[in-house]
Amino acid sequence: MSDEMMMRLMGDLFPICRSITGEGVRKTLRILQAHIPLIIHEVPSGTSVFDWTVPNEWNIRDAFVSNSKGERVIDFHKHNLHILNYSTPVHTRLNLAELKPHLYTSTEHPDWIPYRTSYYSPNWGFCLAHNDLLKLPEDTYEVVIDSTLEPGFLTYGELSLPGETEDEVIISTHVCHPSMCNDNLSGIVVATALARMLLDKPRRHSYRFIFVPGTIGSITWLARNQDSLYKIRHGLVISNLGDAAGFTYKRTRAGNAVIDRLVEQALAETGTEYRVLDFVPYGYDERQFNSPGIQLPVGAFWRSQHGTYNQYHTSADDLTFVQPHQLQESLQMLATITDILETNRTYLNLKPMGEPQLGKRGLYQSIAGDSNHATLQSALLWVLNFSDGTHDLLAIASKSKLPFRTIAQAAQLLAKTDLLKIHS
Ligand code: ZN
Repeated sequence: MSDEMMMRLMGDLFPICRSITGEGVRKTLRILQAHIPLIIHEVPSGTSVFDWTVPNEWNIRDAFVSNSKGERVIDFHKHNLHILNYSTPVHTRLNLAELKPHLYTSTEHPDWIPYRTSYYSPNWGFCLAHNDLLKLPEDTYEVVIDSTLEPGFLTYGELSLPGETEDEVIISTHVCHPSMCNDNLSGIVVATALARMLLDKPRRHSYRFIFVPGTIGSITWLARNQDSLYKIRHGLVISNLGDAAGFTYKRTRAGNAVIDRLVEQALAETGTEYRVLDFVPYGYDERQFNSPGIQLPVGAFWRSQHGTYNQYHTSADDLTFVQPHQLQESLQMLATITDILETNRTYLNLKPMGEPQLGKRGLYQSIAGDSNHATLQSALLWVLNFSDGTHDLLAIASKSKLPFRTIAQAAQLLAKTDLLKIHS
């Protein structure tokens, strides 16, 4: 997808009031279906999923606080963030002191509306800019929240792209945040664009994309797919991919999975600034994939880390905070990661007794015209020496400090001769 297409998709999704259940998620996934053949799953409220239960479905039509003149001083239709997400229905009249415990603001960023939720303890409330709260005079206010919280469904989207092998790569992103771009529309848009890209390519791995509400969605997906989790060989949870920060990779719980080595190698080769973090049991849905009973090799890939930028979880995380070229750069980085995944193999040197004679097999001639021939010549020796069945190309790239693509090119050249064959 071009920069413009990604921004247009983000613009289409921005006005929707999403939550962990309800029409907002359905509408979001239906929009994505125009780009990728996503399957929408509906899981009934009350379904047990590991230690959790799928909650009642939340939907909202209108919500406001109006003053005694009938003027709306807080209006859900002006911004989705004005409503405490998952607010129970209410219709009442209150004075300012009675209303205040239900008003949420951020004194740190007094001009922005903060994002607050109350999924699992029934509550109602409004969020507003702190400076607007200060302007509210003593009055009798009418409070209306026209929402429903009733048995329904939890909705998630899934796209399976079968490859030559059953070995699966899972890409997961959350879909539960209303009207905020970096967290989480950037993840949704980049995952869609990556899926779009992989749809048209030959694939050795199978790929599975899941678009799930945070926490309860990934737990629901894992609980319903326990029998096929063994197929997952690599995975990434993605979000925060549109801001200006360099990339951040958060390792798997084990810390030494192929995906860990791979993303670190890919990031090191970019020559730009990046951060690698060890696993910690908080963050996004990588927590669920890395829980002790699941232990899948799933890392997390972001630009800024959640909670570390001022605009995080506020109305300032809008369409101006995310830049199209940054989304594109994130997409290209993920495309590079999947390219490496597809190419990384373990080879076996078939003539390991002393160095084999490269000249008589035409290998020097075949690289002589390559602008990179000195590095490539060195890569031939590295690949031959370490292709003992235990080092994959990533390990050889890391040991040799040569770019992965040069190591892969050397392996491809050698595999055309009687010197090297694929081991696994
Ligand atoms: Zn968030």
